[in-house]
Amino acid sequence: MKSTMKAKASKTPGSSKDSILLHRDQVPSMQIEPYIITGYRQPGTSVLGSIRYAFVLHNDVGNFWTHFLPLLAWVAWLAWLAKYRIDFTDPYYYPLLCFWAGACSYVLFSSMAHLLSNISFTVRSVCFTLDYLGIALYALGGAISGFFYEQSIGSPLFKYQGLVLSLDVAIAISATLMCGLTRFYWRNFRYLIRAFSFVFPYATAVAPFIQRLFVCLLTGNECVTETLHLHVSGFFLTFTIAFFFVSKIPERFAPGRFDIYFQSHQLFHVVAVVQTCTQMYMFPLDAQLRKDALSVVEGATPNIYNTLLPFMFAEVVGIVIASVVGVLIVRGVLVYDEKQHYSKTK
Ligand SMILES: [Zn+2]
Repeated sequence: MKSTMKAKASKTPGSSKDSILLHRDQVPSMQIEPYIITGYRQPGTSVLGSIRYAFVLHNDVGNFWTHFLPLLAWVAWLAWLAKYRIDFTDPYYYPLLCFWAGACSYVLFSSMAHLLSNISFTVRSVCFTLDYLGIALYALGGAISGFFYEQSIGSPLFKYQGLVLSLDVAIAISATLMCGLTRFYWRNFRYLIRAFSFVFPYATAVAPFIQRLFVCLLTGNECVTETLHLHVSGFFLTFTIAFFFVSKIPERFAPGRFDIYFQSHQLFHVVAVVQTCTQMYMFPLDAQLRKDALSVVEGATPNIYNTLLPFMFAEVVGIVIASVVGVLIVRGVLVYDEKQHYSKTK
């Protein structure tokens, strides 16, 4: 059945239309989140209505603000770095720009998805496909920074720079496509598939550091002790992120109690932001500390063609994928099966 996102709700006395909150039985099944019982927004609102909802306590408002506020902070962080610490006109620091753009992409797309997702099924699907793209770009920015700043100076991967970076881009695009498809197929396993889809992008981001970690452990060289604790804490934070995303804890054990505050998706957002903040400090520090050592290594020289251009290519392809999803929905090729969804969100 193709959804029209028509409201089934009755108005709450004294409330304006755009501040009505609904029970899960009153909204289209596509809007229902597992174990979240109340606090749903009116479906089918306008853009302005969705923006008004940002200032109303509902079950998605925490998910909006936990990613929108970091976006503002990270823009300010880049401005501070550019003013006091790093000359971003130097191509050596282009990978940092990729990482920063990836981080900002994921919080921007995510906050917009959580803000606008109740407008229509088409908008919801396009926005959340962009949300997956944001995560993929974040991993890609980490992979590019990792490649140029985190490997040991003797790493054989520097010789295969083109191949490695092409693979990083292909993995980011594939993850976006795979997660986008889970909105229509394999819905029973969607959280697991989405988490698994990002295992490979995550691996591309941490593999360079793990390579150097082995060199550090085996030879005692290139350990860069100033940032070692940040890398190690990053592993724990990543597992925590995956845990909240897949487990749906705590609301799984008390449906309805975490509808507004402390639901697993908010915790997933917050831990992801903490991890990104850690990396926003770690990558610039590693880049500066290792600049002299890396400057003499063949294949370790960043330029626009091996950093910003591949990153922008992945971003454009991802936006095209999200646009195609939207067009296919409008044309009726991708349809929403309410019956199937309903039985799987209970
Ligand atoms: Zn989210």
